[in-house]
Amino acid sequence: MPVTTPYPRTLPRFPLEDGRLGSGPAKIRREQLDRFVADPDGVLGTSHRKEPVKRLVGRIQRGLLELFGAPAGYEIVLGNGGSTAFWDIAAASLIEQRAQCLDFGVFGNRMARAAAAPWLATPDVRTAPHGELVLAEHAPDIDTYAWAHNETSTGVVAPVWRVGQADGAITLIDGTSAAGGIGFDAANADVYYFAPQKNLGSDGGLWVALVSPAAAARAERIAASGRFIPEFLNLHLAIEQSRKQQTLNTPAIATLMLLDSQLEWLLAQGGLGWAASHTRSLATKIYDWADQCEHAFPFVANPALRSPTNAVIEFDRRVDVKAMSAMLRSCGIVDIDGYSGVGQNQLRIGTYVSVTETDIDQLLRNFDVLVPHLLAGSEATAAR
Ligand SMILES: *Cc1c(COP(=O)(O)O)cnc(C)c1O
Repeated sequence: MPVTTPYPRTLPRFPLEDGRLGSGPAKIRREQLDRFVADPDGVLGTSHRKEPVKRLVGRIQRGLLELFGAPAGYEIVLGNGGSTAFWDIAAASLIEQRAQCLDFGVFGNRMARAAAAPWLATPDVRTAPHGELVLAEHAPDIDTYAWAHNETSTGVVAPVWRVGQADGAITLIDGTSAAGGIGFDAANADVYYFAPQKNLGSDGGLWVALVSPAAAARAERIAASGRFIPEFLNLHLAIEQSRKQQTLNTPAIATLMLLDSQLEWLLAQGGLGWAASHTRSLATKIYDWADQCEHAFPFVANPALRSPTNAVIEFDRRVDVKAMSAMLRSCGIVDIDGYSGVGQNQLRIGTYVSVTETDIDQLLRNFDVLVPHLLAGSEATAAR
């Protein structure tokens, strides 16, 4: 199958204004890019140890605390390496002895693998089949509970809640594809970490974490315990740097600028409440479409678990989704293929907060044209 298959000429075609409907990296709004030309604060090409960049970092920290409605004492910490780096930071700096990790998709599985570090006890890994959810369960020997708020690979959204706190356990939530697009009660997480290339309209390579006083104290205690911790994975060091609006080493200033402009926009639109209802309404359009289509259905069977930010749709096996995705590229749509190894014949659509209703409507109009076309093609092949 060639990479781009032309959209059949005889069929109506519905182009999108912006076809970046991938699950990450994701759409960056045009207005965000305009900032680079103006660069009013003159931060590009300047040191992260100097005032202009520190002011930018401070604005991001305040913006995120406001966006999340963070309880008093919580702080925003940042460093280089993206969410993947944070899994190793958790193993090096946050897990005391043993973690309980929920594996209901590819990203949760990767956190579980990081928690299997040789200096820790074997993690208690609870798994669910792709498309389903498993919840944490209190256990006396667990000091850290970890799962993803939104499992981007399967399109399952999970609750952010407290399993064990009375015994000093902490809760670590991977919010990478949820942050800025799904509401939650920040008081229920000790560390809510993410990289900003999804709802937060920025680029990859940075990790950001909302950290509770209990988690900061845990990181400080482990750092002082004599455990060998590489500097890059030392969360206590990162916290000290972040308190000075800095990172351990040089960050991409452009990534910070994009994050800052997206936060300003999100807060002006109405914050997380607005964002959550916007993403939910985009995803609902897609799930409703699949529910009424005879040849497609939402991959996540339980409506309550369906992600508002990543709609995963399974198609009838006779509909060649690879061909459909290739045809859609001629309407500017990129990156809506399913996550490799998840499901049989599916597409996965990122309905992050920057996406518009109009573009989702156009996408669905194309589906309405292409699904019967591909089905007819497959029946013709079968008849031959
Ligand atoms: C995208 C994603 C990641 C990976 O982020 P990187 O910055 O590439 O490391 C991790 N977890 C979840 C839930 C994601 O959606």
